[in-house]
Amino acid sequence: MLPREVRDASNDPPPDNHLDNASPGDARLARSGYGTDRKSEMATTDTPRMVVGVPRENRAGETRVALSPTALPQLTKAGFDVVIESGAGDLAGYPDSAFTDRGARIGSRDEVFAADVLVQVNVMDADPASGDLSRLRAGQVVVGSVAPFARPELVKAIAGTGATLFALELVPRTTRAQSMDILSSQAAVAGYKAVLLAADNLPKMFPLLTTAAGTIAPAKVFIIGAGVAGLAAIATARRMGALVEAYDVRPAAREEVESLGARFVELPLETGQEEGSGGYAKQLSEETIKKQQELMAKTVAASDVVITTAQVQGSTAPVIVTTEMVKGMAPGSVIVDLAAEQGGNCEPTVAGETVDVDGVSVMGVVNLPGTIPVHSSQLFGKNVANFLGLMVVDGRLDTDVDDDVIKESVVAKGGDVANNRVREALGLEKLPEPEPPAPEPEPAADDAPAAEEAAK
Ligand code: NAD
Repeated sequence: MLPREVRDASNDPPPDNHLDNASPGDARLARSGYGTDRKSEMATTDTPRMVVGVPRENRAGETRVALSPTALPQLTKAGFDVVIESGAGDLAGYPDSAFTDRGARIGSRDEVFAADVLVQVNVMDADPASGDLSRLRAGQVVVGSVAPFARPELVKAIAGTGATLFALELVPRTTRAQSMDILSSQAAVAGYKAVLLAADNLPKMFPLLTTAAGTIAPAKVFIIGAGVAGLAAIATARRMGALVEAYDVRPAAREEVESLGARFVELPLETGQEEGSGGYAKQLSEETIKKQQELMAKTVAASDVVITTAQVQGSTAPVIVTTEMVKGMAPGSVIVDLAAEQGGNCEPTVAGETVDVDGVSVMGVVNLPGTIPVHSSQLFGKNVANFLGLMVVDGRLDTDVDDDVIKESVVAKGGDVANNRVREALGLEKLPEPEPPAPEPEPAADDAPAAEEAAK
């Protein structure tokens, strides 16, 4: 099934039953008072409400904010107060008043960092001199995108403060967790924007045009990597009238590609990829990548636009399009490399720059969601609110809640690094893996009729 982000972006009508859109986070929030009279009950207790703080982002070029006003009522109804650093939403198109109108208060950075829960798009991505890290304290909860495998030292430093850190990139790729999945929500935005950038830079039109002055053939767009971003790019390019082809190492992607009206490019390649590793592709051998490059060269050369989105979790992006392949494209063609920040899928890619290779523009785009901050913040904020919702018990946050989404995304807890891959990167001893859930006991032979009866 297509990821929700792409399904919603396609022309499918919304599901009739709007409860389908309720996430597990919504459900837990509902149990804890969301949309019920529990709020007033909670307000009468002596326990102070927990505070969620939203600092202004300080990564260069970041425009998003970790909570948008639309996500606020979900939190306030669940028993949280929300404090936003003054100006935190300005670049995303949400002035302070948009937050106060929805029940938040505006505060200084120190007030925000005093909150029980801190939510950030880029966790602690500050100039070390800013002192943000030293503002953290034991027991505080920090939630956002962390890049824990690329920044294990940061995780260690946050663990050292005693704060509990959740990396939203580690939310499992399951249907239940989709509403908290920042990788999916932001990738869908990036896939869409990549096509707009390509169209804007291509000296051709996308759609077929029949005029008295002649017929213009549609642009040929080739998408490499048909994950969330790739599928969003396919849907967008199709809507703009291009002829779209796509390729992915996962054979399961074919059906999704075709369901969006694109042609799946068949390569006679043994990729050894099957579903089951949480939707992620595994790294290909050097030899297979080389073969892939050779087989793909013709399709790349015949394309006006190539959009590359291939990623392998935890490693640098595979180099799929070589400089030689780029040189095989017609001058004026455009490549948009969505993997630029992870090293790039194209050999000539430079992150943050557009490189000209014999008249072909290779765009090493970075943070495309940040170029559409209203909607990417709206989606990110909803992901965050849903995630927090999983831990809400009677208006308080329980970080020990028995939930796989919470357990898989915690990277620092109790003063220690809580994720074994991050520990390995730091040379720390592995923590014992949690016991897998006990299998259901087999009914004894004598009990079989009773078990059948009970199952009815
Ligand atoms: P991703 O960003 O890790 O990678 C993007 C795509 O690149 C993937 O489809 C991957 O197979 C592909 N890729 C990797 N190496 C490649 C290569 N050498 N050549 C061509 N393609 C290559 O992936 P993603 O977009 O985050 O998601 C991957 C899959 O997981 C998708 O099918 C998505 O629908 C699924 N998913 C499912 C859920 C869910 O809730 N069930 C949630 C999120 C994602």
